[in-house]
Amino acid sequence: RSKEEGRGTFRFFQEEMNRRLQERKALEADLRRALSEGELRLYYQPQVSTNGERLVGAEALIRWQHPERGNVRPDQFIPLAEETGLIVPIGDWVLRTACRQVAEWPALGRVAVNVSPVQFRQAGFADKVRDALVSSGLEASRLELEITESILLNDTEEMLAILAELRELGVSIAMDDFGTGYSSLGYLRKFRFDKIKIDRSFVRNLGESPDSTAIIRAVLGMSRALGIRSNAEGVEDMGQMALLSQEGCEEAQGFLFGHPMPADEFSGFMAIREVRGTAADPQTVNAT
Ligand code: C2E
Ligand code: MG
Ligand code: MG
Ligand code: MG
Repeated sequence: RSKEEGRGTFRFFQEEMNRRLQERKALEADLRRALSEGELRLYYQPQVSTNGERLVGAEALIRWQHPERGNVRPDQFIPLAEETGLIVPIGDWVLRTACRQVAEWPALGRVAVNVSPVQFRQAGFADKVRDALVSSGLEASRLELEITESILLNDTEEMLAILAELRELGVSIAMDDFGTGYSSLGYLRKFRFDKIKIDRSFVRNLGESPDSTAIIRAVLGMSRALGIRSNAEGVEDMGQMALLSQEGCEEAQGFLFGHPMPADEFSGFMAIREVRGTAADPQTVNAT
């Protein structure tokens, strides 16, 4: 009996594996089509200064408008895109689209673009960045590239060389999701990031958990000492914002100021903020 049960479990396991493999294949084919049929979109999320809540920039976030599945979030296809190498053409598209769009928004400070480690390591990445800047006419100082800590695990010398090439162009580099990976004080100094983005997981319990507050305070102290700017991700309420401002975090991003939105909606968002001036009224902002 138990042997049969074992076989049954194994068969079930195999079927499950096959099913997942099929699903993956289907998704991969879908993703290739998404790129060629123009189903990808860039959304923009506001970034504000904690001091006065001025709009200082936007992060470009990819969305997939799937004909059957609807709006697919990046967490559901970026990993597959990385495994299959599709992240390279997708990443090129993101870079070019964001530069072209933000060149049309002179009132917006800058745009932050997420770069996958696969894309970053690819030969000629800096040339692609230069091309995107030249063909869009966007000033290099208005482009910020967000990379994650996992990049630091790779060959340090190679990473330093790519970073140097990018700096030469005049773009800035932000470390995304800070605190979730392998970063250390040494890395921060060695790689000379222009900005760190404190991961949402540390912002979530701000004010409620003394630990989170202590971590944020330590991270901000460290970045200040190294002359690195700071952004807090996932700011959802005024309490978190007040604490971040008090602790000296320079920039914030989160649903409190605005969700990621399509370009036309973001244009409207900017227009409203301009009319209102710098004094933010989060209730109005939240209405978008
Ligand atoms: P990320 O770069 O850390 O982006 C921030 C994520 O937090 C976004 O999720 C954003 O919608 C979400 N978020 C922003 N404010 C809040 C908030 O107040 N509360 C909560 N709960 N969430 C908030 P999204 O758009 O689903 O993107 C997920 C991840 O996918 C991104 O994390 C980034 O790692 C990746 N990604 C997005 N677009 C691209 C892209 O164009 N290229 C690459 N390589 N990765 C991308
Ligand atoms: Mg990011
Ligand atoms: Mg992040
Ligand atoms: Mg992330």
